[in-house]
Amino acid sequence: MKITVIGAGYVGLAVTASLAELGYIVTCIDNDVEKIKLLRGGGIPIYEPLLQELVAQNLSQRTIEFGTDLGQAIKRSEVIFIAVGTPSNEEGGADLSAIYLVAQGIGQYLDSYKLIVNKSTGPVGTTNRIANIIFGELAERRQEDPGGSSALFDVVSNPEFLREGSAIYGFLYPDRIIIGTDSQRAIDLMLKLYQPIIMKSFVIDPQSPNNNSPETLSVSPQTGGVVPTLNTDARTAEMIKYASNAFLATKISFINEIGNICKYLGLDVYQIAKGIALDHRIAPHFLEAGLGFGGSCLPKDTRALISMAKTLDYEPHLLNAILEINRKQPSRMVALAKEKLGSLKGKRIGFLGLAFKKGTDDIRGSVAIPLVNELLKEGAIVSVYDPKAMPNARKLLKDKVLYEADAKDVIDNADCVFVITDWDKFKDKDLYKGKVVIDGRMVLAGNEREGIEYEGLCW
Ligand code: NAD
Repeated sequence: MKITVIGAGYVGLAVTASLAELGYIVTCIDNDVEKIKLLRGGGIPIYEPLLQELVAQNLSQRTIEFGTDLGQAIKRSEVIFIAVGTPSNEEGGADLSAIYLVAQGIGQYLDSYKLIVNKSTGPVGTTNRIANIIFGELAERRQEDPGGSSALFDVVSNPEFLREGSAIYGFLYPDRIIIGTDSQRAIDLMLKLYQPIIMKSFVIDPQSPNNNSPETLSVSPQTGGVVPTLNTDARTAEMIKYASNAFLATKISFINEIGNICKYLGLDVYQIAKGIALDHRIAPHFLEAGLGFGGSCLPKDTRALISMAKTLDYEPHLLNAILEINRKQPSRMVALAKEKLGSLKGKRIGFLGLAFKKGTDDIRGSVAIPLVNELLKEGAIVSVYDPKAMPNARKLLKDKVLYEADAKDVIDNADCVFVITDWDKFKDKDLYKGKVVIDGRMVLAGNEREGIEYEGLCW
């Protein structure tokens, strides 16, 4: 089966590499010419475990191609995935301009039945809008050439739940697959396409989602459970995506609020989290208290859900509170630093981590960015190190901060160390001996804090 993936970002590249690994022939299209040039030359514009190896392997086997020519790719593909960005607009809603541009393009080139699979996150109604735009383009083409294309197509909402840092693993081993369409033809094709994933009939990296050693890449049969699929209409599928992300954000803001209360009481919120997660109705994930959530999805999608509710004249009090707790959490780091150091004017604060979480170079929505700005306002000097996110940070923070070559340089030169991202290499307790450390991610357990002036953010 030949597939086109439109968008060579975090989702598009993970989908491209994973589908090629399953044996499909995939053309990945992006309108960023430089990005495509880099990809064609074997470079990868983002850091994501396993991606480099899978792309290299499939480029050499000619099962992946990168390009900018949407028309050519559409004509030779049976299935077209949309994976372009949907950033926040000024009102907090989703900016759907890239999706709509792509829909227009698809309508201009459609020449036979195609299944269009929307992976980009958009509000309820986005999938139907994509279909309407394509219908409109086809109608215009028929006006110009009455004997021309009357191609059939289906548009499916197939929300993506992958997690950066384990995106390939998340796509190939999902918890569930949502197929949002009323068309039986589309459902059948989706089930055929995802058959190896649904049946878990291959193994790509059984050890760990973050293990990117090349020898773990062989695809071999695996017996295992069947991934649940749920067929809904497109609007329901779109809401499932927003509700999922809002729920995860809720768990994080909830445990952070409990953590903030625990801090006043001298209690360890990680023990509390362990205690509540033993209740099988409360899954243990996303209960790690700390600096809060970031990234390109949870903040953006929660804002978009709020925006959608407001257009319906509904005030979503809980969702508002989730974002508000998250917005305030980094300021607690600054307050703790002031308790330790007094005025921060001229003091050097060393950041360990900038990425919104470990395993990625993505700094979109990272709490590190507002935290830098707040510290600069206090007159502090900020030095930073992240194993993967330094290039992205330089583009954004420019000369506002000092860039260090490794964690040790940050720590040695800092009056106070802020742990921002839970990279494994920051868990080495010997790094911090004799230093003032404010830990935003619980990288050091209680028995590892000896000889360190340690302060947990909310434990
Ligand atoms: P991204 O910004 O990393 O990538 C988007 C890509 O689309 C870019 O390379 C951009 O150049 C390209 N693009 C934009 N307009 C285009 C056009 N007209 N034609 C061709 N290419 C175009 O975004 P992402 O993080 O991959 O997210 C993509 C979508 O998936 C978003 O809607 C996001 O909400 C959703 N999503 C993201 C994640 C995640 O973890 N990043 C997870 C699930 C869902």
